[in-house]
Amino acid sequence: MKKHLVLSAASTALLFAGSAFGTGSTGSAFYGDPPDDHHPWAIHDQNRPQPKLVTPGTFSSQEQPGQPPSDATILFDGTEASLVKWEADTPAGGATKWIVKNGAMECVPKSGYVRTKEKFGDCQLHVEWASPTPPHGDSQGRGNSGVFLMGLVEVQVLDNYNNPTYADGFASAVYGVNPPLANALRAPGEWQVYDIVFRHPIYKDDQVVDPGYVTVFLNGVLMQDHTRLEGPTGHKARSKPGAFPDVGPLKLQDHGNPVRFRNIWYRPLPPNVVEGGTDGYLSSEATLAKRKEIAATVRADAAKLDNPVSQMLRLAESLVYEKDAATFQQVEQQADSYVASLKQLSPHQLGAKKDEVKHVADAFQYLAKFNIVPADFGPKAEVEKIIKAQGWDKKK
Ligand code: MG
Repeated sequence: MKKHLVLSAASTALLFAGSAFGTGSTGSAFYGDPPDDHHPWAIHDQNRPQPKLVTPGTFSSQEQPGQPPSDATILFDGTEASLVKWEADTPAGGATKWIVKNGAMECVPKSGYVRTKEKFGDCQLHVEWASPTPPHGDSQGRGNSGVFLMGLVEVQVLDNYNNPTYADGFASAVYGVNPPLANALRAPGEWQVYDIVFRHPIYKDDQVVDPGYVTVFLNGVLMQDHTRLEGPTGHKARSKPGAFPDVGPLKLQDHGNPVRFRNIWYRPLPPNVVEGGTDGYLSSEATLAKRKEIAATVRADAAKLDNPVSQMLRLAESLVYEKDAATFQQVEQQADSYVASLKQLSPHQLGAKKDEVKHVADAFQYLAKFNIVPADFGPKAEVEKIIKAQGWDKKK
């Protein structure tokens, strides 16, 4: 069954690649379910932008940090030079007293938190850290630091290797909010790898629109599964709901232990749908706006096409996104002329257009099926009549 579907998609694409449809067409909209009130794109929509190309990085080993992916913003790469991307948190903006040693940035106890000069919000964040060896202290006193997202939400850094503490203060905890799902730490001194996905809380008029979420992997093991945030994290204090800024610095905590960090990078995430993102389940207003925008793009593309059949189909495709009356009229006129032109062809000439005519009929059927054109759309009946008269509707 699946194989059949794949073949259908391929043959649809092939039809469009044919000369009858000219160049410039990005494919057929007349295939999957059309856009609706909350989704601006059709299913399997060929007009939808291709995912951007990213060259993946490499994984780290204990001996050597991996390469970040090609589009990552590097915050610390092990060099003194990249330490200039960091500053002291107190006094704000002062030079950091943390040091670079053997390719790692090391916390100098009592020198204060460090923070990135750059401010950013929603992101995929990669951080590697190693707690001191041999270990000193116990519970919260052993290898304690923290990764503070936007400077406000602490993903705990702690040496919990054979070192129990309160659950919501474990390594990979959202500190004081949610314990990690497991303890997957390596021994002290070994590199631990955090991969974090962070969405900040969004408020409008003091009302929460999206509470924000954080997902954390430690050494490839899931620790936080889309954990709902409430507000900034705190010590001994319940997280209080409240508006966040749009961006903030990444902070690393000085908790009095010489914890080391390396290979710190992030990739910004596209905006949440409540802040203008256009992938996902959108509000009806946002969907309408995006559909109008797509329709305009498709119409502009249609205007560039020389082949009248391609142009008609491309314009018809724009109706899938927006039922623009003027465009509908234009499509109807073009479709009427198309039918009239078919009727003037010799049987031999018409025979050469079999694939094209069938494709046009498929498009009209699709448009009628989803009420994008009326069920009694004249040209639809006309092309179907031609197909029947030619016996093209019969399966061989
Ligand atoms: Mg901490």
